[in-house]
Amino acid sequence: KARTVLLATEKAFAAGAVNKIEDVCKAAKYTLKRLENYKSKDELLAAVADVDAMIIRSDIVDQAVLDKASKMKIVVRAGAGYDNIDLKACEAKSITAMNTPGQNANAVAELVFGMMIVSARNNFDGTSGFELVNREIAFYGFGAVARAVHKLAQGFGMKSFAYDPYIPADQIQAAGATPVSSVAELFDHQYVSLHVPLTNETKDSINKALLGKMPKGGTLINTARTEVVHEADMIEVLKTRPDFCYLCDVAPKDIEPYKAAVGDKYGTRLIFTKKKMGAQTAEANDNAGVAAANQIVGFFEKGETRFSLKA
Ligand code: NAD
Repeated sequence: KARTVLLATEKAFAAGAVNKIEDVCKAAKYTLKRLENYKSKDELLAAVADVDAMIIRSDIVDQAVLDKASKMKIVVRAGAGYDNIDLKACEAKSITAMNTPGQNANAVAELVFGMMIVSARNNFDGTSGFELVNREIAFYGFGAVARAVHKLAQGFGMKSFAYDPYIPADQIQAAGATPVSSVAELFDHQYVSLHVPLTNETKDSINKALLGKMPKGGTLINTARTEVVHEADMIEVLKTRPDFCYLCDVAPKDIEPYKAAVGDKYGTRLIFTKKKMGAQTAEANDNAGVAAANQIVGFFEKGETRFSLKA
């Protein structure tokens, strides 16, 4: 059956990735409709009306979008985090929602190390920094991205710890990390790296009490979601602890209070990417885009639902 797949990306994929997505669609005799770099929600609402499937990135898929998508059977988030999709609304309309787990894990892991090195070497300002070897890193969540960071950490000669109540401790151990039994215990280590999804449980969960526990040179790395960290608490800790560092993928809406808290150490103690950069590599775009297209074809042609998300 001829199907139409909408690629709706407010923040477009690299051109190479789009060509590869198109190849997957063509091979299945599907039509790829492109809505890239769109500027208003109305454009998205108009584009979804006649499509069978949709590939998105961080684009918001809410009730309004689903109401217009009268033919749509499946939406795939090319990426890991899916807090931009209203899963309950999808379920109510019998629309399958999926993500493409793991496809951008290495890209995010390399960004983590990029930020760690820039911070440890004082943003290359000519002063003496420190090395990562023998230092400790603790992961909040031990899914695909955390494991990719852990693999690089092993290469750097670091020691890893992890807290993930959904993964048996022996699996964490088998991967070469030391399991810890509470979130609080993570903050006994110099580096804490966040790799949990944004949920009601994790939102604002990283607060003053936890950050205050961190040893000298304590550094929080956040490539999960900005909202996992309690904003006012973070600004207070940056202000009161001159040794503390915050390295984060995605600047908050108002960066000024953070900058004021660290003064001229912006870029060293405090690093924010301008846009979400974790998955912004040619490879991650290719991997996630192609996986999304393949999952759509597999869903229609073979009834595959392996990466379906539950509300
Ligand atoms: P994943 O699903 O592979 O791993 C998430 C892990 O978190 C799972 O192992 C799960 O068991 C664990 N978890 C869930 N709730 C938890 C809780 N309350 N406490 C402890 N552990 C918990 O996902 P991933 O690919 O590793 O990505 C993790 C998150 O990172 C995503 O949800 C997304 O928000 C973010 N992410 C950001 C970028 C980026 O570009 N910056 C790219 C990929 C992922």
